[in-house]
Amino acid sequence: MANPYPQVYFGDRIIDAKQASVGVASSAVMYGLSVYTVFPVLVDGSARTAFRLDDHFRRLEESCKIIGIDRFAAEWDFARFRTAIIDLIAANAPTEDVFVRATVHVVESIPGTRVRGCAIQVSIFVYDAVPIVPQDGMRLKSSPWRRIPDNAIPSRAKVNGAYVNSVLAKQDAIDSGYDDCIFLDGNGHVCELSAANIFLVRNGTLITPDVSCDILDGINRRTILTLAAEDGIPIVERTIDLTELYIADEVFVTGTSSGTSPVAEVDGRLIADGRPGPLTQTLRKRHTAALRTDTHHNWLTPL
Ligand code: PMP
Repeated sequence: MANPYPQVYFGDRIIDAKQASVGVASSAVMYGLSVYTVFPVLVDGSARTAFRLDDHFRRLEESCKIIGIDRFAAEWDFARFRTAIIDLIAANAPTEDVFVRATVHVVESIPGTRVRGCAIQVSIFVYDAVPIVPQDGMRLKSSPWRRIPDNAIPSRAKVNGAYVNSVLAKQDAIDSGYDDCIFLDGNGHVCELSAANIFLVRNGTLITPDVSCDILDGINRRTILTLAAEDGIPIVERTIDLTELYIADEVFVTGTSSGTSPVAEVDGRLIADGRPGPLTQTLRKRHTAALRTDTHHNWLTPL
């Protein structure tokens, strides 16, 4: 378990974490009606940079738009968001890399199950950048829990309440002795993990579910696709059968809290010899480097 750093952004101010709370009668608490994003801030001495901050802000805006949280577009823009992050990082002065979680809560009191026009509050906190899955070859279990489809609760929107789906699948995987789950959709196609996107490599081609496969459109997924394309690696985005994972040459996952991390085993079957494959290692190195020293994509925002 990680604790937030002591200073948090809440109610347009930087305050003590213990003072920042959302009401018990708010839609955020009653229905899980909040949307969020998590991104890394890389710390090198006095230099601090956020990775793909504008893309995270845009995804937050899009989550709000999908769900109908209209007060966010009315009250927030990227400049305000960036200033809040700069102030928060300055207040906590981290000396190591951190993750930053920014959440838009619907705080209207007992509005019933509606959303448009409801009051919002933005919370932002910082915590240690500790990966949530093993980095040296994780073991995954296909889940008996199905991924929530786009026409029920869209995975494209990062809705807090939808993470109950992830909790069920992740806990089932842990209870069965695995590190994380693989969500399948109603037709048995591979979606993603509880909080990461998935890739496989077969005969030198990088394959990943396309964005209409009930996945989050992960920022690190996009990063890997860009880096792989620049390296001339063939890429296919399409539906994937579970059994394709069993016979893949390599499988890896991406996510802010997972990094680019190899998969050693799926459902009791070793992936190749169980060790990280060459493409996984190359892309992991490229991704790790891009987080700190990106030169030409405009991915780094100095804070
Ligand atoms: N899928 C889900 C369900 C997630 O929660 C996350 C983590 N935010 C990801 C994928 C990876 O997204 P990102 O690369 O933007 O961190």
